[in-house]
Amino acid sequence: DAAANRIAAGEVVERPASAIKELVENALDAGAGRIEIAYADGGRTLMQVSDDGHGIPADELELALSRHATSKIDGSDLLDIRSFGFRGEALPSLGAVGRLTIASRAAGAAEAAEITVTCGRMDPVRPAALRAGTVVTLRDLFRATPARLKFLRTDRAEAQAIGETVRRLALAAPGVGFALIDRSDDAPREMFRADPVQAEGEEALRQRARQVMGRDFVENAIAIDAEREGIRLTGLAALPTYSRGAAVAQHFFVNARPVRDKQLLGALRAAYADFLSRDRHPAAVLFLSCDPQAVDVNVHPAKAEVRFRDPGVVRGLIVSGLRHALAGAGH
Ligand code: ADP
Ligand code: MG
Repeated sequence: DAAANRIAAGEVVERPASAIKELVENALDAGAGRIEIAYADGGRTLMQVSDDGHGIPADELELALSRHATSKIDGSDLLDIRSFGFRGEALPSLGAVGRLTIASRAAGAAEAAEITVTCGRMDPVRPAALRAGTVVTLRDLFRATPARLKFLRTDRAEAQAIGETVRRLALAAPGVGFALIDRSDDAPREMFRADPVQAEGEEALRQRARQVMGRDFVENAIAIDAEREGIRLTGLAALPTYSRGAAVAQHFFVNARPVRDKQLLGALRAAYADFLSRDRHPAAVLFLSCDPQAVDVNVHPAKAEVRFRDPGVVRGLIVSGLRHALAGAGH
């Protein structure tokens, strides 16, 4: 019901960037090859995510907006690593706090359809003009809960958080094209673009990391590939000589899902402890993959924390995997 959706919304949608994260993850889950993200006024007045994924059939649009309705879980495998979302909470939560329109054309459907929900009130499904894929538009975030607006930072800070979220998701999906556009003014401004990478594996990551983190990082980064007790660590880590004054270039992914976790960041620091002083930070893009049963990436809907069954093993893997690679590169 509406009240439950508003409460859930407080958890899922802390700020515009968390809404963008949910919408882009949905586009990735839908098998999109290209995703365009637009916003205005730091996301407060407008956020829009367009994808060329498999779409939503017209007769499932209402269901997509119902709480705990998800097409991504079959009961047997709650922590399906293939998809980002499985809680079925994002869309109903967004529809509870603003004006949400979903326009979609499912693969093979004769025409597109759209549905709008305004602060929890759903309008009937109607025909729409769209060639393929899905366009989700969220206007007037927190219109239903103006108190939450006060917790937002400046438009500039919120726009920056959106940019970081999109860049991070782009690192996890090199084969997908991303474009981020600021529509605050009459003339749209492209804030970030990453064209789809054709390569595979480490080379794909190198090319995408070049687009996201810059050439300097990639040219100073070594490949990481280590394993311990069924958990695999791969990615790129910068040589200590490329350390940074701020910890902005530290990206962790668990089963392809971006996470921001103190223990993982702590292990990264520990691996570089012999090389770096307190005010120098390592840079790295690291992917942990393991049996979905060995990790819970959904401790909290919006906070990207993870809980491993055996945190000691993960820390040991990161510290020794990185030290071994750095030693191999002469450090
Ligand atoms: P979840 O992602 O946890 O399943 P959401 O509330 O984010 O829940 O989305 C609800 C459902 O709507 C999804 O399970 C999916 O079937 C559908 N959906 C949402 N966004 C898209 C999209 N961009 N393309 C195709 N289907 C989508
Ligand atoms: Mg989702």
